[in-house]
This record gives sequence, structure tokens and C-alpha cells, in this order.
Amino acid sequence: MEQKLQGQVAIITGASSGIGAGCAKALAAAGVTVVVNHPVEATKAAAQAVLDEITAGGGKGMIYQCDVSKEDEVQRMFADTVKQYGVLDILINNAGLQRDSPFQEMTLEKWNFVIGVNLTGQFLCAREAIRIFLKQGIIQGRSRAAGKIICMSSVHEMIPWAGHANYAASKGGIMMLMKSIAQEFAPSKIRINAIGPGAIKTPINHSAWETPAAEKILLELIPYNRVGVVEDIGSVAVWLASDESDYITGQTIFVDGGMTLFPGFSTNG
Ligand code: NAD
Repeated sequence: MEQKLQGQVAIITGASSGIGAGCAKALAAAGVTVVVNHPVEATKAAAQAVLDEITAGGGKGMIYQCDVSKEDEVQRMFADTVKQYGVLDILINNAGLQRDSPFQEMTLEKWNFVIGVNLTGQFLCAREAIRIFLKQGIIQGRSRAAGKIICMSSVHEMIPWAGHANYAASKGGIMMLMKSIAQEFAPSKIRINAIGPGAIKTPINHSAWETPAAEKILLELIPYNRVGVVEDIGSVAVWLASDESDYITGQTIFVDGGMTLFPGFSTNG
């Protein structure tokens, strides 16, 4: 059977765990050669395990160590990817983290760290991808677009989050970064969209769902009444990277079981 993204090449940042790993597996299953990015030596084994699972299933790719907040490392990763595979079709701008703090106690270091990885990291990776896509243009028979970028945002690009001002600011920033460059590069046939996950079971938020009591509280925020899994995000990433969504650019698709529907209002209208 023809795979939806047969023969395309993608870089997935922060792909040694959670949503990034889920996206790498989903893209690989759709025929994509995947670059499984991870940040440091300590995450290498986990990235290799993700790649091993992909290759065992007949998929292709490589792991690549790069801290997305460092300009020289990002430039090297994109250059090496093109050197290895000759082309880049898709960037999943996924790497992200939290360093939570009451606002009055938030250090500049915590602020800069989160903005550096979540927002500056997405800027650096998107800029390298755009440079490559502009040079390549549309490659006949590959995709209707000259390139696709999918930014991992969050419901917190629109829902304020007390105690997480640095994280929420980074996600609000990602939204306007995504929309601004979508506007700038639509005439070049480069599509840029975001996914806004709600609560997805990954290491970033395990305390919110690891016990039945914690999960019960979390479910009060989710009208669809289940916590998400990484496959919920992977399937949307594949669709957003495919020609089936060719007329969509500059949008955030919330994949959140209704978390952005203000569930607190459901019984008090
Ligand atoms: P996770 O902690 O499993 O994944 C984050 C990944 O980013 C890790 O693999 C980590 O190694 C990587 N990373 C961290 N710093 C990096 C750097 N400097 N360079 C490269 N990689 C780096 O958590 P996750 O839930 O899978 O998060 C993935 C993305 O999804 C994040 O952007 C997060 O904000 C977003 N998100 C997650 C949820 C959720 O409920 N899990 C909800 C909304 C948004």
C-alpha cells in the first residue's frame, strides 16, 4: 500500500521521549525517513531506542544530538541532514520543557531557560528549515508544498497558566511566530501550522496523571473524559504534513479532548 508521506525526510526535535517520539514513530509508519533529535549525551540511549523500534518496523532514520537553543548546533543538524539525505521536507518543532515557579520567585535563569528552548529553539530550527525549503522549492511528485513546519504549541497558547508564566509566554510566542512566518512564506508554498496539545500522558506531566486521584482532578478539565496519548498527536502531525491538509497554513489545531472549551462553564451557563 502507498504510504501517505512515502520517501519524505523529517527532523523531529526532542524525539527521544513523549510526543516527539510518538510523532517520529507515526511519521516513520507513514513512510518518512526520520531524524530523531535529542539534546545531550544522556538522552542518546533513549533516542536510539526510539530509532530501533522504528527500524524494527521497517522504517528509516538516524539519531542526532543537538541542543535546539544553540545556534551552531542547530545549523549543524540541518546541514548534516541535507548532506545525509539530500533533502528536507518536514520539521516537527517539538522540543520543550517546563521550569515552574511562583512568579515573584521566578529567577531570570528559569525564565531564560524556558524561553531559550521552547521559543528561541523553535525560531532557530524554523529558520534553518525555511532556508532549505526556499532553496529546494517544490519538488515534483514529492509534495504540493515546498516544505512543512509543525510547531508543538499547547493549549497554553490561549489558556493562562498561573505558576507557569515562562512556559505560557513561550507558547503564546510560538503561536505568533508560527502565524507570522506562515504569512511570510505562504507565497513560497511553505506551510506552517501548530498543534496545541491538551493533557497528553508523557514524562513532562506525569504527576498530573500518575495516580487515580491526580487523574480524576485532571479529567475535570477534559470534557471528552480521557487523558490524551502521544498517538493522538502523531496522527494529526502526519495529516498536517500531508497534502490532505494542503490548504491549511497559519493554524493551531488543538488536540485536547475539549480542554479549550472552558469546561468550567458547562454547568453554570
Ligand atoms: P517530554 O519531556 O517527554 O519531551 C520533551 C523533549 O524535549 C524531551 O525528549 C527532551 O529531551 C527534549 N528537549 C528538552 N530540551 C531540549 C533541547 N534544548 N534541545 C533538544 N531537545 C530538547 O514532554 P512532551 O510532553 O513530549 O513535550 C513535547 C512538546 O509538547 C513540548 O513542546 C511540550 O511543551 C508540548 N506539550 C506537551 C503537553 C503534554 O501534555 N504532554 C501538552 C502541551 C504541549
